[in-house]
Amino acid sequence: MASSAAEEKKNIVIIGGGIIGCTTAYFLTRHPAFSPTKHSITILEATSIASGASGKAGGLLALWAYPSCIVPLSYKLHAELAAEHNGEKRWGYRTLHCGSLSANGKVHTPRVVGDGDMSGNKEEWQKLPKTNAKRKPVVGLPQDLDWFDGDSVTSYSKMGDPTTTAQVHPYEFTTSMADLASEAGAKVILGSVTSIDQADSGVKSVTYTAKDTQESHTLPATDVILSAGPWTSHIFPAAPIDAMRAHSVTIKAEVSPYAIFSEIDLPSNFTGSGNVKRRHGRFVSPEMYARPHGEVYACGEGDTLVPLPKSSDLVECDESRCQDIIDYVGSISTPLREGEVLVKQACYLPSVSHGNGPLIGQTGIKGLLLATGHTCWGIQNSCATGKLMSEFVFDGKAKSANISSLDPRKVL
Ligand SMILES: Cc1cc2nc3c(=O)[nH]c(=O)nc-3n(C[C@H](O)[C@H](O)[C@H](O)COP(=O)(O)OP(=O)(O)OC[C@H]3O[C@@H](n4cnc5c(N)ncnc54)[C@H](O)[C@@H]3O)c2cc1C
Repeated sequence: MASSAAEEKKNIVIIGGGIIGCTTAYFLTRHPAFSPTKHSITILEATSIASGASGKAGGLLALWAYPSCIVPLSYKLHAELAAEHNGEKRWGYRTLHCGSLSANGKVHTPRVVGDGDMSGNKEEWQKLPKTNAKRKPVVGLPQDLDWFDGDSVTSYSKMGDPTTTAQVHPYEFTTSMADLASEAGAKVILGSVTSIDQADSGVKSVTYTAKDTQESHTLPATDVILSAGPWTSHIFPAAPIDAMRAHSVTIKAEVSPYAIFSEIDLPSNFTGSGNVKRRHGRFVSPEMYARPHGEVYACGEGDTLVPLPKSSDLVECDESRCQDIIDYVGSISTPLREGEVLVKQACYLPSVSHGNGPLIGQTGIKGLLLATGHTCWGIQNSCATGKLMSEFVFDGKAKSANISSLDPRKVL
């Protein structure tokens, strides 16, 4: 027997056109109970689809990610979607290797004499005392992981292989989800939500300011899915969602398919060309993901120096932080040092204040569902989240996974 939830006429409003909102729209249109003549699905997006972290993330997918209650489902759905929609071509889906490595960074700047004085223009590599020893083979370092310099790598450990690790291009994946949902009847409206309006029995509408006209409009809503990533608490202050800025770059480089988590020991005379002053001998941990079509994505540490702005188009990108990432990865890899820098960008990571997350499910307000706080695994966990959201809306409960530990009502 069809559930009564599926039989009602529904006006479903999704707030936020990031990867969570767009996969939710996609899976709603694929739910057996969805009927475009009976139900409406609207994504309300303040800036543009995938304009936040969902368009600027690395795109790593892994069976060893967390939380374990949704990871296997989401990993499997990613593979199925890629097979169904030619994701390999459309959004760069592929499996790959993954490992962590420790390495000694090298300086590649003009020789420094005295107190930071640069002598001469001739650039040369300065040998570090700790790397004077002859190169020793690094145990476990795969032969085809050949994009790191000579003796820079000191240790390597495998984290995953093509049976457990994959990737997508997050921007291409998110916009494809929005397009596929639109083709099946969902609508995208560019407008910034100002309130979720309630009647005694629960949600009744969503009010937003249209991006083009700046006029206020109200959309009737029977079901509201709040998936505004780090902006969630701007719209629903009870949601304990924090935001942390992170910078990333992409570099043109043709390298073997590995995702690398690094720990680089920077030499004491490392200055790089960014503006950020470094402490001597500092360890840094950029992540580097080879992508198809001759590109490497690299991201650095997070910071809380600049609070989350009102919208994704106002996110400040600090060029010197991007330059730091470029200098760090260039200190151990010639292809990354010599490759053309294609993109420098910043975005905000959404996380649940008390640590665990994401929050997926009912809020205690009838018709209001939360899907947010995905931290650094939102690309990986997007598909499961979207599928489970479609079940909450049409079946009244999550069916494909036991997600009681992610119930938002525990923290609201
Ligand atoms: C540097 C970095 C690398 C990452 N790498 C990976 C990775 O390799 N693998 C992985 O699984 N995850 C990764 N992540 C995490 C992943 O990017 C996020 O978890 C995910 O993108 C969150 O998606 P979201 O849809 O919740 O939020 P967002 O992408 O932030 O989307 C929220 C949307 O809501 C919109 N919005 C905001 N306010 C309003 C409003 N008032 N009205 C309407 N719309 C509004 C915004 O414009 C935005 O488009 C990474 C994150 C960062 C920062």
